[in-house]
Amino acid sequence: MNRKFEGFGYGHVNPPISDSAMFEFETAAEMTEMFEIGLPGRFLYGRHLSPSNALLAESLAELEGTESAAVFATGMGGIACALMQVCSAGSEVVASRTVYGGTYALLGNLLPRFGVKTTFVDMNDLATVERAITPKTKVLYCETFSNPLLAIPDLKGLAQLAKSHGILLFVDNTFAPLIVKPFELGADLVIHSLTKYCNGMGDHLGGAVCSSREFVGQLLDVNQGMSMLLGPTMDAQVSSAIRKNLQTLPVRMKQHSANAMAVSQELWDRGYSVVYPGLPSHPDHSRLAECANPDYGFGGVLTLDCGNRDLGDTFMQDLVSRHVGHLAVSLGFVQTLFSMPACSTSSEIPETERERMGLSTGFVRFSIGVEPDSKTLAMEIADSADRILRSAKRRSA
Ligand SMILES: *Cc1c(COP(=O)(O)O)cnc(C)c1O
Repeated sequence: MNRKFEGFGYGHVNPPISDSAMFEFETAAEMTEMFEIGLPGRFLYGRHLSPSNALLAESLAELEGTESAAVFATGMGGIACALMQVCSAGSEVVASRTVYGGTYALLGNLLPRFGVKTTFVDMNDLATVERAITPKTKVLYCETFSNPLLAIPDLKGLAQLAKSHGILLFVDNTFAPLIVKPFELGADLVIHSLTKYCNGMGDHLGGAVCSSREFVGQLLDVNQGMSMLLGPTMDAQVSSAIRKNLQTLPVRMKQHSANAMAVSQELWDRGYSVVYPGLPSHPDHSRLAECANPDYGFGGVLTLDCGNRDLGDTFMQDLVSRHVGHLAVSLGFVQTLFSMPACSTSSEIPETERERMGLSTGFVRFSIGVEPDSKTLAMEIADSADRILRSAKRRSA
């Protein structure tokens, strides 16, 4: 990230924000060449690529260790474009049953209108995944930590499975930047909602697709590229802001993880059914420990089963009244957020399906912030739990 911005003049430490929707050429021949084969380092039109978006994409490719990346106005913009780039009418996708609600609705409700069918399975069960693959399958789709249940699939195993069937593995790594590098484990394409940890400030929306130069080239293609032709373009002002915030991602991620570990441990010690990948009690803890970068811990998201919806509501109300965090959707914000996924971000998922994936209506999901004092935060949350949830203690402390 610490590159110099020569050529802009004035010795900027941050690159100037590109302020042009279109870019000029010296000759007609040059312009033709740009349209037909592209000219490296040159720009044509903002919907195709701008200098600010190219710089953010470069930083994200570096983050995920891929050759290239493309940025989008939102995470969903990136997900929809990547899926539509490789699927056409008649194609199939095999996806995790526990994907983000918006992704679930896209795959389950919207893409079938265009002839793309999805089979939802338990991605932690490789045999089931393999049985769901047909000659029409183009993509295996999952998230590093499933949302909101935090199951962690075997990415290496899924990558091998995808390779052996000649299909692509897409991994949404929104919950685990720096912690897990899906591309190094064999994924073909890594997705981010930049709205979450990568930006972290809760002020902008954004998305990214990190992949090979060839795939990113397909997304930007003037004749067939989903990014170019559907137009989910990120604004240059926004990409410049997100790129600046990305520079603090390593320190933020460490603090999110340290705080979430402290809160989880406190809740666990007081006898609550807390789900956090950093706790040895988490079924996928050792799998994550094997492939995660220990410098960044186990992430900032945890869930607490409050037993039922009423208790969950009362618990969240108690936190609100004591000014501990915010009752809000989303995650990866510098301050603590909490919500009940079954009634909000995963409400797109039908109740019978939610039951099958073990998403009880009393689950409260926390996105723990970067508050400087882990211990105080842990006490504040656990004290609300003790006031409201005593009856929900499933374990003896
Ligand atoms: C929020 C989120 C998305 C969607 O991103 P937007 O920026 O809101 O469009 C996709 N995947 C995951 C895992 C998310 O948490």
